[in-house]
Amino acid sequence: MSITAYRRMVKGALTALVIGAFFSLFVCVRAQAAVICLDPGHGGIGTTGAGAFYPPYMEKVLNFAVASQVKAELEQAGNTVYMTRNGDVSLDLDQRAAYAKSVGADLLISIHFNSSGAHDKYGSEVWTSMYGGHRSTGYALGNSIISQLTALGFVSKGVKTKMGNSGDYYGIIRHGVSYGIPTIIVEHCFMDNVIDRAILESKGYTVLAHADAVGITNYLNSVGGVVPKSDPVAFVEGSTAGGAGAASSTTASDPYRTKYGFAKDALGNVTYVDPAGNSVVFTAAEWNRLLGSWSYTGDPEACLKQQAVTVLKTLIGK
Ligand SMILES: [Zn+2]
Repeated sequence: MSITAYRRMVKGALTALVIGAFFSLFVCVRAQAAVICLDPGHGGIGTTGAGAFYPPYMEKVLNFAVASQVKAELEQAGNTVYMTRNGDVSLDLDQRAAYAKSVGADLLISIHFNSSGAHDKYGSEVWTSMYGGHRSTGYALGNSIISQLTALGFVSKGVKTKMGNSGDYYGIIRHGVSYGIPTIIVEHCFMDNVIDRAILESKGYTVLAHADAVGITNYLNSVGGVVPKSDPVAFVEGSTAGGAGAASSTTASDPYRTKYGFAKDALGNVTYVDPAGNSVVFTAAEWNRLLGSWSYTGDPEACLKQQAVTVLKTLIGK
């Protein structure tokens, strides 16, 4: 081997070393990037899994569109991002949280849009767990997202916790923290309210999605890309250990009554009476489909009992 060839070989080896070192550094940086599971709320055939529905907006569609863009932006920033659903499918709340666990998520972020019976509520709000490290992580992450949403003009209704019969009131949070994953629900705005809707329509959902991505990124930067670990919080579904919150008003143990006292026959058919006094008989299957529409709230019948008969019939095509 000539001296020149020898020098060339040494130079080549050194270059390989430098490149190798660069790539291992790169791998180190990547290893610090967070694993985030986004949960586009609701989903399922037709209006059954719609969530809030105020034409032309159907919540499940909006949730999915926002989540998809947040995913793309967070991936571009170097994070690993999963979504609990990649199409219009129905999933229960434990399936969503279990999926987040299966992919090793550091955070579970459930994407929603709000609505209220009288259409008079407005603003952005985030729900988090009431327990220890889950609460502090959710509080910091939630505030980071809300500060971006208020910059668009939405009013902040804050980062909040809510207690139910079995611990945290909201099912996705209850299940998420049971797997040790800090979990929040982002309610971007009230899509049925004139104030919020004007902002949503003038900005467009992509601007809201970008606000989420920036809020999440700012939070991750604040913790150096490493989300603090929190211990799982066990719960017993249906227990009363957590205190009042979403307590049943009547006879949960009565087989001939629903939770809020609607008459139920031996086949499970329910005679529903709405707040205006109109009544209808739902079959057991129809009743369960209706409960499924509000299962995300942790107390579906409490929401269902506020609805007019005509609205419920439309929801299930009766
Ligand atoms: Zn929702």
